[in-house]
Amino acid sequence: MSKKVVILGAGYGGLLAAINIRKYLNKDQAQVTVVNQYPTHQIITELHRLAAGSVSEQAVAMPLAKLFKGKDIDLKIAKVESFSVDQKEVKLSDGSTLSYDALVVALGSKTAYFGIPGLEENSMVLKSADDANQIYQHIEERIAEYAKTKNAADATILIGGGGLTGVELVGEIADIMPKLAGKYGVDPKEVKLLLVEAGPKILPVLPDHLIERATASLEARGVQFLTGLPVTNVEGNVIDLKDGQKIIANTFVWTGGVQGNPLVGQSGLDVDRGRATVNEFLQSTSHKDVFVVGDSAVVFGPEGRPFPPTAQIAWQMGEQTGYNLYAFLENKSFKEFSQVNSGTLASLGRKDAVATIGANSTPLKGLPASLMKEASNVRYLSHIKALFSLAY
Ligand code: NAD
Repeated sequence: MSKKVVILGAGYGGLLAAINIRKYLNKDQAQVTVVNQYPTHQIITELHRLAAGSVSEQAVAMPLAKLFKGKDIDLKIAKVESFSVDQKEVKLSDGSTLSYDALVVALGSKTAYFGIPGLEENSMVLKSADDANQIYQHIEERIAEYAKTKNAADATILIGGGGLTGVELVGEIADIMPKLAGKYGVDPKEVKLLLVEAGPKILPVLPDHLIERATASLEARGVQFLTGLPVTNVEGNVIDLKDGQKIIANTFVWTGGVQGNPLVGQSGLDVDRGRATVNEFLQSTSHKDVFVVGDSAVVFGPEGRPFPPTAQIAWQMGEQTGYNLYAFLENKSFKEFSQVNSGTLASLGRKDAVATIGANSTPLKGLPASLMKEASNVRYLSHIKALFSLAY
């Protein structure tokens, strides 16, 4: 009898698990249902480009119905309201309930606000194509308003958090600002582009010489960095920093960190700081019929430190889970997850980037790093296109 596989989320991990299971099991062996809150698979590593209007939405959001066409995968566009791994039940926002023989939890992460008063209510985030569109529209509206009123707050853009998300976003905004400001007759020099970072430096995952390179590149395009200064409170458009200074910005994007999806913590799965604990097969440590991939899981590397919540790891976990679902349902032997680190690539706008490549962390900067970043996106897109045309 056909087994029921339910996959929660169609980000990197969920999408690749769905398509990979079809390499091993046909529809008579497994009925696969994928639930996603958006009708698209979103390339979140490219959202900063959409947020700056540099690419079209189609470039970062691929319709799932098209991807799954002819693949015998049931697609449900709905939000997961809750799921219980003891009752083996998933409740969706459309009122339906799903049951399963095997579950894949690939629900990604949520923005972390760290309990900072007023932050969530008064900031935008960059977690989806909708968020990115909202950021671009908002910036354009504020610049248009500034052209009329010369209210400095409208020409102040603040990014909170100097990790990869914040830095890639600020670099992209810096690049489009001359054209965008020019469209409204505003001198781009009048637009303040600020990035505030709690830690002593931006991009702490990179070596110092690349951080310096990134800082110089962005400063040359008008970005001002405020490092060692946590955001402590936000009220309306007033952002307080730890040293007492107040920034008045009508555009404030919070990129200060991510945390496990709260639904995972509430599901009955064993968790470690909000992320599900898994064994070497990416199977929940508490529920053997549940596999957890991407940012929803915590996977410890050989040095005992958790892997960072990145797209490349989610992708690799999803592929592995496609096979292990088959092994679970057909009583075959599991394969261990082993992560391949292809490095860290930080774009600094359209024409500049810094990166560490491969397991040896070879540093790269400028055009070669930019091309690597571009290539990594193309590689991902061609990989899923190839998988979708070949599978099943
Ligand atoms: P992050 O956690 O990596 O960075 C958030 C930054 O915000 C940190 O530097 C932190 O010190 C700062 N911060 C926290 N609280 C603050 C406060 N109160 N005031 C000011 N600053 C504060 O988050 P991210 O950049 O969204 O990245 C999340 C994950 O996604 C990471 O694992 C990252 O590697 C990955 N990612 C990768 C890429 C890429 O590979 N190009 C791009 C984006 C994200």
